[in-house]
Amino acid sequence: MQKPKVGISSCLLGQSVRYDGGHCHSSICTDTLQTHFQYIPFCPEVAAGFGTPRAPMNLVVNLSTPQLEYAENIEDYSGKAGVDLSGKLADGFLTKLDQAAELNSYITKSRSPSCGRGTTPLYTASTGLISETGSGLFISALVERYPQLPIVDETELEDRVILERFIADVTAYNSLRNKSNP
Ligand code: SF4
Repeated sequence: MQKPKVGISSCLLGQSVRYDGGHCHSSICTDTLQTHFQYIPFCPEVAAGFGTPRAPMNLVVNLSTPQLEYAENIEDYSGKAGVDLSGKLADGFLTKLDQAAELNSYITKSRSPSCGRGTTPLYTASTGLISETGSGLFISALVERYPQLPIVDETELEDRVILERFIADVTAYNSLRNKSNP
């Protein structure tokens, strides 16, 4: 039987797509989970044409709407002189959202302004300070389109109980889909 297709932030598989030209290889994803799933890797920032390496970006809360902005340096980020890149990022992942209909789950990179799920720092435009955490723009759009899709943050998988429940959830989601679309 074909393994369930699972979307994943490309950098977690060791692909050098991060803003600094590096990756965030997760051995849990490649060693423990790869036997259960067929991965469909995706990097929304590369898909949007930002290039690698690139300036780091942050999510800034501006009039209550998170938007993606370039920052020269994440530590010095003021939130005042940024350029809104949300539209450019969305243009890069729109087709991917349609293709995600084939997925049974998604594994996200923690804290990313594009891929994080509930862990991404949100900066306040007026002060440049972190006000709260939220989700990256790609993952927010994915959740909006597929609210039932099981999504997990890579750091959650370090908990054995969550890891095993995640495998069970994805397997159940996959069988439900197969029954609905024989
Ligand atoms: S946009 Fe997502 S996949 Fe790309 S480097 Fe950042 S966290 Fe990884």
